[in-house]
Amino acid sequence: MTETPEVEAVLKRMRVPSHDRLLVLGCFERPATLYMHQVRALNLIYALRETSLPPETTLAVVGAGGAGVTAAAAAILGWRVSIFDRLGGNVLAFAGADTSKRWLHPHIYEWPEDGKDRSDAGLCIMDWREGPASDVIPGLRRQWARARDRYSIERSRFGPSSSMFTKCHCRVCS
Ligand SMILES: Cc1cc2nc3c(=O)[nH]c(=O)nc-3n(C[C@H](O)[C@H](O)[C@H](O)COP(=O)(O)OP(=O)(O)OC[C@H]3O[C@@H](n4cnc5c(N)ncnc54)[C@H](O)[C@@H]3O)c2cc1C
Repeated sequence: MTETPEVEAVLKRMRVPSHDRLLVLGCFERPATLYMHQVRALNLIYALRETSLPPETTLAVVGAGGAGVTAAAAAILGWRVSIFDRLGGNVLAFAGADTSKRWLHPHIYEWPEDGKDRSDAGLCIMDWREGPASDVIPGLRRQWARARDRYSIERSRFGPSSSMFTKCHCRVCS
């Protein structure tokens, strides 16, 4: 399949030069919030899907933070996925994830743009709503567990429409 300019831009941004099959997400991107890294993760999986990666492909995701887990939760609908983290099975560890003192808001950096007062992230996968980290992170972990076990997300949701993926707002992709 021919890559559209949009898909090409996402892949170009994330591909490691001279290593076509190695993609890095978010290292140099700003803002580096949980939500924005999730959007980048979904855009990456969308872009990979548009390249018609065969279903027998295995994707290795390194890092089980918000970006890696979101990418894996989306990718698992289309391909086999292995996820690796140096902390072992401790996904979405986030130093301080158990704190009620840090308030997470998905759109905090987008204010005062229209519609950015909404309290939910509005993501098709691994969605969340503003709240203390001690509520948000366990909620994401539960969604990940369900996605991983393939109970709540059916393969059919990975349908032909690309509109289920939020468009990236990063400078290159927007
Ligand atoms: C002090 C601080 C405060 C923040 N506050 C906010 C906030 O209020 N709101 C907000 O939205 N964002 C906040 N952020 C940003 C947010 O934490 C990040 O955007 C988000 O965690 C990025 O997700 P990630 O998956 O890219 O990285 P991380 O969450 O860092 O996850 C990376 C994972 O990769 C693993 N890993 C690293 N190296 C290797 C390796 N070599 N092999 C295997 N595994 C590896 C790590 O163990 C980790 O689990 C804050 C960040 C910091 C540092």
